[in-house]
Amino acid sequence: MQMGRAQSPKIHPWLAQAPGEFVRLIDRGNVQVKVDDERIRLAGKSALTLFQFVADFDSKFKYEWIDAKPKNGVWKARIIAWMDQPKIRLEHTICIPSTYNPTEPWKSKLIQHEFDHVAISTDPRLVKIIKRVLQRRRTWVAQFEQPTLPSENEVRDQIRQEIGLDIKNCERMVQAQYDRLDKESSDGLSTIGNRFDFFFELYSVSGLERCQFEYVDEVRAMLTDKRLDIPTKKEVEQHYLFLSL
Ligand SMILES: [Zn+2]
Repeated sequence: MQMGRAQSPKIHPWLAQAPGEFVRLIDRGNVQVKVDDERIRLAGKSALTLFQFVADFDSKFKYEWIDAKPKNGVWKARIIAWMDQPKIRLEHTICIPSTYNPTEPWKSKLIQHEFDHVAISTDPRLVKIIKRVLQRRRTWVAQFEQPTLPSENEVRDQIRQEIGLDIKNCERMVQAQYDRLDKESSDGLSTIGNRFDFFFELYSVSGLERCQFEYVDEVRAMLTDKRLDIPTKKEVEQHYLFLSL
């Protein structure tokens, strides 16, 4: 990952001078910085952090056709799909305005605020939440509108689409957390009162319910049962400590 960034011709010079704790977030989130006045203007912000989650997985599935022939041109299949360990890659782009050129960017409020966003989407609890969502066994009835019996590859495409929707739902939840950060900090202009409590709550059961996360029930036990493999409060706190350096 690091090599990819280092070899990129578009790498922003600031990234090479980032202090230690920022480097950790840059690596973890595959962060790029680029000038993009248009996106910032459209978002109505002073700068902007964009993110996406890329999942690499091998799904296993079983399916059966509900009827031997299509009805009204539609084939229906009952699909059961599951997967082992998916790999999740986090990608971020921080968009800055062309007019912004501070002498010490890593000490600027604007960049620090954008890294609060990056910290939210690289929170050690989040990858576990996404994996848990993706790894659940799912059953649904898929429809295919076509004259001939769909092939196994076409069934596989449906499964990919279904999993793609899960990833989109996870991204929507994280965007809601980003919006909450912007609201609480007035887009980074004001300091959040109790910084750690604020960030810790984001991926608690109540934080996920607040964003109407569709899969709260799938992750509830994981977030509340200390015997399960979820980062401790201390680990989460350390993740958000970078601004005190
Ligand atoms: Zn913001």
